[in-house]
Parts: sequence; C-alpha cells; structure tokens
Amino acid sequence: MGLTQCEHVPATPAAPLSDRCEECGSGHSLRLCATCGHVGCCESQRGHGRAHALEAGHPVILSLPLSARSFTWCYEHRGYVQSPAELGAPAAKG
Ligand SMILES: [Zn+2]
Ligand SMILES: [Zn+2]
Ligand SMILES: [Zn+2]
Repeated sequence: MGLTQCEHVPATPAAPLSDRCEECGSGHSLRLCATCGHVGCCESQRGHGRAHALEAGHPVILSLPLSARSFTWCYEHRGYVQSPAELGAPAAKG
C-alpha cells in the first residue's frame, strides 16, 4: 500500500472558495488548495492550481469534487500523498 504520509496535509482541508478556477473560470478538473481553499485548474489546462501552490507556498492540493476518490498531491513531496483523514473513509457522510 502506501501513499506517502505527508506532514503538509491538514487533517481537515479548507473548504473550496469557488466552484470554478478563480483565475480563468474553468469548471472542470479543478484543484483545491488544502491550506486556504483556493480553487484552480489542473496542469493540462492553464495550471492555476499549481501556480497558486507555488506562489503562495501552499504545497498540498486535492482534486475536486472532494470525495474518497479525490487524490492528494504535495508539491513538496512531488508526488501523491495520503489524503486527509476526513476523506479516507468512503462512508463517512451519512
Ligand atoms: Zn508533503
Ligand atoms: Zn485556471
Ligand atoms: Zn492556498
């Protein structure tokens, strides 16, 4: 098993501040900044999620919509890492 345990990942990710990329308005393949809730598009679009992570020094992004299937990426670890505990259990919400 095993995704890297990443100390940058908060126990509870910030809530998304937008349902679109805050820079270009893209509405698909969005990335959430786990630190502050910034929403940006993925790297095969204009990469605003990545740009935010690097500029703001917020290393952890999650794929939207948030679910147990969301992936978590850390720009410090440069790889996929363990998702926040809150997302780990698929049936957490009732
Ligand atoms: Zn990390
Ligand atoms: Zn964008
Ligand atoms: Zn951020």
